[in-house]
Amino acid sequence: MDLGLTGRTALVAAASRGLGKAIAWELAREGAAVAICARGKEQLKQTAAEIAQDTGSRVLALAADVSVARDVFSLVDAVMQHLGGIDILVNNAGGPPPGPFLTFSDEDWRAALDLNLLSAVRLSRAVIPHMQQCGWGRIINLTSVAAKQPIPDLVLSNAARSGVIGLSKTLALELAASGITVNSVCPGFILTDRVRQLFRARAEKEGHSVQEIQKSYERQIPQGRLGRPQELAALVAFLASEQAGYITGTAIQLDGGYVRGLF
Ligand code: NAD
Repeated sequence: MDLGLTGRTALVAAASRGLGKAIAWELAREGAAVAICARGKEQLKQTAAEIAQDTGSRVLALAADVSVARDVFSLVDAVMQHLGGIDILVNNAGGPPPGPFLTFSDEDWRAALDLNLLSAVRLSRAVIPHMQQCGWGRIINLTSVAAKQPIPDLVLSNAARSGVIGLSKTLALELAASGITVNSVCPGFILTDRVRQLFRARAEKEGHSVQEIQKSYERQIPQGRLGRPQELAALVAFLASEQAGYITGTAIQLDGGYVRGLF
C-alpha cells in the first residue's frame, strides 16, 4: 500500500536510537523527508547517515533536548528552514526514572513532566500553526501502555503519559475541522537498547541471567514475546498516512495483548 508520504516532511523527536529511530526510518522509507533530534550529536549524525543511505530520503540531524523550551523553539525553526515545513510531528522523548512515589521530589516531578508532557505541548504548539496554514497535519504522540494500565514502580511515567493522552484527545477535537489528526500510540514492551539495558540491570540486581529476566516479561504478554521497533514504526507510519485521515483522538496500544482492560 502506498501511504502517500512521498514529498511529506516529518519531525521525529528523540530519534537517535530505539523507537524514534525505527519510526524515522519507516517514514523515510515511505518517501518523507525527515528531521530527527536527540541531545548528543555523534550518535544522531550516524543514525541520520544510516537512514539516508538506506532509503535515499533526506534526513536532517539536529541536536536538541526536548525537555528544554528554548531547544524546542530553535529545533522547530531549524526544521522549517531546512525542510520547508512539518507535515508530520512525532512527539517522543526518553523515559523518567523508576521508583516508589515517596522518593520523588517536586524537582523530579518537574523534570518528568518537562520530558514527557511539556515536550509534546511545546512541540505541538510550535508546529500546529503551520499545519493549520497547510490544512493538513499528523501529530502522533508516543506514550506507553502505562497510560492504560499503570506499571508498578513507574509513577512518574504513569502520570505523565496519562497527561499526554488527555492532551492528545483535546487537541484532536480542537483541530478536527482543520485537516489535522492527533493520535497516541502506547507501546508495551518493545525490544530496544533501553529495554535490553533494563533487563541487564535487573539481571545483575536479582542474580538471574538476562534471558531469565526477558522470559519473565514475556510470560506477562499473551503473545509470549516482546515487540519489534519496526512493528511500532509501521503503526506510526500508517497513522501518518493519507489513508488514516479519518482516524483521530485514538490511543492505540501495540503490546501483544499486554493491556487487560477493554479500552
Ligand atoms: P531509547 O533509550 O532506546 O531511545 C530514546 C531516544 O530518545 C534516544 O535517541 C535518546 O537519545 C533520545 N532522548 C532521550 N532523552 C531526550 C531528550 N531529553 N531530548 C531529546 N532526545 C532525547 O528508548 P526507547 O525504548 O526508544 O523509548 C522511547 C520512549 O518510549 C521513552 O519515553 C520510553 O519510556 C517509551 N516507551 C518505550 C517502551 C519500550 O518498550 N521500548 C515501552 C513504552 C514506552
